[in-house]
Amino acid sequence: MTTKTKIIDGNAFSARLRDTLTQKVHEMRDSHHVTPGLAVVLVGEDPASQVYVRTKHKRTIEVGMKSFMHTLPADTPEHELLTLIAGLNKDPEVHGILVQLPVPKHIDSQKIIEAIDPAKDVDGFHPINVGRLASGGEGMVPCTPLGSMMLLKDCLGKLGGLDAVVIGRSNIVGKPMAHLLLKESCTVTIAHSQTRDLPEVVRRADIVVAAVGKAEMVRGDWLKPGCTVIDVGINRIELPDGTKKLVGDVAFDEAVKVAGAITPVPGGVGPMTIAVLLRNTLVAAARLHNLPDPGV
Ligand code: NAD
Repeated sequence: MTTKTKIIDGNAFSARLRDTLTQKVHEMRDSHHVTPGLAVVLVGEDPASQVYVRTKHKRTIEVGMKSFMHTLPADTPEHELLTLIAGLNKDPEVHGILVQLPVPKHIDSQKIIEAIDPAKDVDGFHPINVGRLASGGEGMVPCTPLGSMMLLKDCLGKLGGLDAVVIGRSNIVGKPMAHLLLKESCTVTIAHSQTRDLPEVVRRADIVVAAVGKAEMVRGDWLKPGCTVIDVGINRIELPDGTKKLVGDVAFDEAVKVAGAITPVPGGVGPMTIAVLLRNTLVAAARLHNLPDPGV
């Protein structure tokens, strides 16, 4: 590692963001008698989803918001889930609704996403919010890309004119990330599984965002010296001695020798996602009650 390489600390940044949110939640409650509420719906018993949902509940309570957990059996019919969402859309105590994905196969996830009131869609996946992000309007922005953008701005300040390469084109990370970078006046390339000569494309980038889901795919010699690397990937690998380890989509030990700044895995983008979910819930509560923008 060169002494200059900055390790972007997502744990510290997200803890500061949660402190700010705690303060803003209390201000909203004291001045306007509104307590932001987040409803999280989990269908089925996927162990990873259960962990995410429990952490979301804990963090929601910690910042002083109300948390409404709905855990449904894996065989819940689609119409029952739609009825629950319709109720949450009308519930004045609920300002944010999140249905934990993936949902079981017999449920059409797009139908579920489209059933959520766009004003309460704190995941930012509803087509209205996707369209608002694409057209520069004020909507809800997906949590992981927004958290990545917060880390980038904190690290680099103004991003205008920089060359950014986003690897991955999912609706959850890659595409919204590309829109956010474009909004900051970056020159944006979206690379994906059919991109030709990916290493050469990545070498042009001042900013590399990797959201692929392939352990350590991006190598150190793909990077422009001094670039900023945001590694969104979370991959569980098994080491030769049988122990398990979390790694990103970027070969960290190589990249850290070349990049100017890089997010580690774990401890980079990961902790930002839930903090931004709470931020989106606060913003949704302010908008639903016609209160001033909380400015976070
Ligand atoms: P996805 O599977 O929906 O999309 C992966 C994308 O990578 C696709 O667009 C595909 O075209 C591209 N891709 C696949 N192989 C490629 C290759 N060889 N070269 C270039 N591009 C290739 O995944 P996703 O939901 O966007 O998630 C990506 C990663 O980010 C996963 O590891 C996931 O676990 C992680 N993730 C982390 C967080 C977080 O909170 N930090 C949140 C969401 C996703």
